[in-house]
Amino acid sequence: MLLCFGFMLYLYATYASDEMNKEFASVIENDTLTICKENRHDRRAFVQMSGSDSIPIPSLSLTSQTSSAATTSTTTSSTTTASQSSHNGKQIPTIYFVTPTYPRREQIAELTRLGQTLMHVQNLFWIVADDSDICNKRLDKLLDNFGIPYILLSSPMPSIYRSQKTIPRGVSNRRAALAWIKYNNIKEGVLYFGDDDNTFDLRLFSEIRYTQRVSMFPVGLIGDYSISSPIVENGKVVAFFDSWPAKRKFPVDMAGFAVNLNYMAKFPNSTMPFKAGYEEDAFLKSIELKINEIEPKAKDCTEVYVWHTQTTKTKAPMIKISNDVLSGSKTNMHALMKFLDEMGVSHYSSSNGVKATVSKDGKSKSLAFWAHSH
Ligand code: UDP
Ligand code: MN
Repeated sequence: MLLCFGFMLYLYATYASDEMNKEFASVIENDTLTICKENRHDRRAFVQMSGSDSIPIPSLSLTSQTSSAATTSTTTSSTTTASQSSHNGKQIPTIYFVTPTYPRREQIAELTRLGQTLMHVQNLFWIVADDSDICNKRLDKLLDNFGIPYILLSSPMPSIYRSQKTIPRGVSNRRAALAWIKYNNIKEGVLYFGDDDNTFDLRLFSEIRYTQRVSMFPVGLIGDYSISSPIVENGKVVAFFDSWPAKRKFPVDMAGFAVNLNYMAKFPNSTMPFKAGYEEDAFLKSIELKINEIEPKAKDCTEVYVWHTQTTKTKAPMIKISNDVLSGSKTNMHALMKFLDEMGVSHYSSSNGVKATVSKDGKSKSLAFWAHSH
């Protein structure tokens, strides 16, 4: 596991050397947080927005550290005009959707699916926090293309946790998002932790948007019951149904609750500890949640709007392609293989790996032979 991570980091360090800035590094306890890129401008063409298209985020108390390489003509980081998207004449609350993610071969695929779900949601600010010590330009480009207002942070898991028996997955990055929210003194809107591999029904967003303190709802495909849900009686949460109680006061999944930021701001010591399995419970305790205050959603927890899907892991293949074929080639192959290599989807080598073949007219030839005879 450690070796594998080290290898991934090595690959990133090797191939993504022209990364974006690393100028800003804020140290929060033992964690580091780097702002890679921010774009508050909503450029989605088909989401119904009335009036302005900027998300109402207070101006940064930190200097924005977007590098010139990462700044595009569409970046309007100084614009903080309030959004006029309205609901019965009132501005609708922004959903701060926090996604921890990490470099691995499925990363782009997961974020493509998630990003295209989020493209349907108005007044959403996507905080993507990468468990990596570099700012990945390819990742930023992917996020930027969705047109969703977003910020890309990088916040690697401190190495001491990486070597634990059960590692606290996605914690350093969620903490970075929480720190960013605190730094910016954001007290309006709703916070939601949405992992990159989960599946979100669009109805979830209208359910959580008007959370007063903390709302809760069922999460499908969790544990031995395949569900983790509050138990609701007469419109009130009275207990929890979760196959791994583990003495937790709030035995819920990370995807099973949303928090009002105004409520959260009342607890300056709110935190998510590096304690695998207990992150949700500890976080909800740190905001002094009482069971009778929980707002049940999804038709009193009778419907499932979020699923804890997981992607099967398979090893990235090594493909044997000689360097001269790639460098001498006028085809797409070099750019394509380089992209896949940089993102950890597959790798190539001139000396070992699965043989590269080319198919044409139903016939297969070795890529090397084809490239030279072509
Ligand atoms: N994650 C991370 N670093 C890691 C492993 C996971 O940032 O080393 C992220 C991952 O992208 C996901 C969340 O943390 O958004 C939960 O991880 P995962 O889905 O692997 O765990 P699950 O809860 O599904 O078992
Ligand atoms: Mn997951």
